Amino acid sequence: MLRSQRKPILPPPPADKEYVVIILPEQCDGCELCVEFCPTDVLEIDMEAYNSRMLHPAIAVKPDECVGCQQCERICPSVSIFVTEIQLLQEESS
Ligand code: SF4
Ligand code: SF4
Repeated sequence: MLRSQRKPILPPPPADKEYVVIILPEQCDGCELCVEFCPTDVLEIDMEAYNSRMLHPAIAVKPDECVGCQQCERICPSVSIFVTEIQLLQEESS
């Protein structure tokens, strides 16, 4: 198969936002809904860990892949997962 040698004229713009995934393991029921609905496979169930109810909580295994869509927040039945935004680029001072 021939591979294209064309290159973009401009480099892709730098990401101006980054997201942090916060999970409350004690509150998590390990239902896997967030794992199933995350479009970038950021989340997994931590089979090595247990909370006080002997349930395996979710963990963020690829936090850098988070795109901030908040699907996990919306789908979580126990309100155990939150996503916050970090501004990477400073706003221009006036
Ligand atoms: S905000 Fe979206 S991409 Fe980030 S962990 Fe949640 S579902 Fe995945
Ligand atoms: S949806 Fe909520 S309760 Fe279910 S595994 Fe994810 S964080 Fe835990």
